[in-house]
Amino acid sequence: MVKETFKYAATPEDAETATAAWGDIQTCREVYNHALTQEYRPRPDSNKPSYTEMQNKLTGPTGWKEQWPEWKDVYSKCLQMAIRRIKQSETVLESLQDQGYDVGRMKWKPPREFRSIVYNQSGFDVDHNTDRTDHAIVNFSKIGDFHLTYHRPLPDDGDITQVILKKEKTGDWTVSIVVEYEPGYPEKPAVEDIDPADTVGIDLGITKFIHDSDGRSFESLDEQRDRDRIDRRHRALSRKDRGSNNWEQARQQLAQAYDRVQNRREDYREKLAHEYTTRYDAVFLEDLDVKAMTEDDGNSRTIAAMSWRQTIQAFKRHGKKNGCHVIEVPPEGTTKRCSQCGCETEKPLWVREHSCPSCGFEADRDYNAALEIKRLGVEKIGVETTMQTVGQGMAESTTPAETALPGETEATADEVSPKRVVETGSPCLKEPPKAASRQG
Ligand SMILES: [Zn+2]
Repeated sequence: MVKETFKYAATPEDAETATAAWGDIQTCREVYNHALTQEYRPRPDSNKPSYTEMQNKLTGPTGWKEQWPEWKDVYSKCLQMAIRRIKQSETVLESLQDQGYDVGRMKWKPPREFRSIVYNQSGFDVDHNTDRTDHAIVNFSKIGDFHLTYHRPLPDDGDITQVILKKEKTGDWTVSIVVEYEPGYPEKPAVEDIDPADTVGIDLGITKFIHDSDGRSFESLDEQRDRDRIDRRHRALSRKDRGSNNWEQARQQLAQAYDRVQNRREDYREKLAHEYTTRYDAVFLEDLDVKAMTEDDGNSRTIAAMSWRQTIQAFKRHGKKNGCHVIEVPPEGTTKRCSQCGCETEKPLWVREHSCPSCGFEADRDYNAALEIKRLGVEKIGVETTMQTVGQGMAESTTPAETALPGETEATADEVSPKRVVETGSPCLKEPPKAASRQG
């Protein structure tokens, strides 16, 4: 059984539905704040009330719902879920604390920080067999209907356990549907059956997004236009009167600009992960936690580390779906060591060429690293091979085939890179991904 969340853009049936939804979210917020400040926070750490204990205060002759009858207008389980959110907040705080942040205590939440209502197990009805394509309706008890842009179907025999209705900071509504289902994933090939030729080593880089041991490389996304847009909207926001309608509108537009760049990055990662995990039986990547600490370029390191982490997660997810092993190998020495003979040479970051003093192998630095990652990976899964068979025949072409030359990237629109991934990197791709044809 896996649990997966499917998130959709949503539109309320009418203005009253939107008002009702926001009203119910605010009631949940009141319940959360009340339980937090009146019940949970005053008690010492050794004697915190349980959720059941707090939930029980909602009902009964002297219960909160009798004191504040308008709380009865909200589907009762949603109020319980609001109380349960205290636990989630606490977990977040604890993890921040563990990372060394000075977090203080859980705070009363203003409307801006409490934007969703959770329907757990009941109180919702999902209808995805409407007459319209890419359309579904979710009915929320005591609120009404929301129409979903149903771009991705829910699993057929899944069990919907939770539905979350949220008004995003952008002002748009979203509905997240949590489904438990038995995934029909293909089996990964048995390790001993894997032909090293069907495996690939991937070097996650800073200057280039990815280099692989088959000589391909992919540029990072060109985000100049996104950054310009964000700057522009920051300036627009700073010119508005704080709290005014114009300010609120500018704030939403800024949030949308940030969303857009996040979405583009995610699309790109997903596409690469899909491409590699459908094409190979095993993909080898460097163990990120170690790698982030050993790279010597301080500033780009943190930024790169974040995107590496998300990239590796995407690869693992797609690997599961596509029956491909995604295996991490220790990154120590992958840039120094010669992939052909194992000889180590010191190489500062600015030396872009690998030239082996021992065996004479010459290659782009990152290409040599990708070959070395593949060698380590093949060794790790224990496939019979010798050091020399990996990457053999590639030694001739010492410069990896570039899929997007730097000059071209500058000259073309910002949608170029992902498109190229598909066109040049995926001759075996079965169907053109959507984003390849999407413009602007
Ligand atoms: Zn060598």
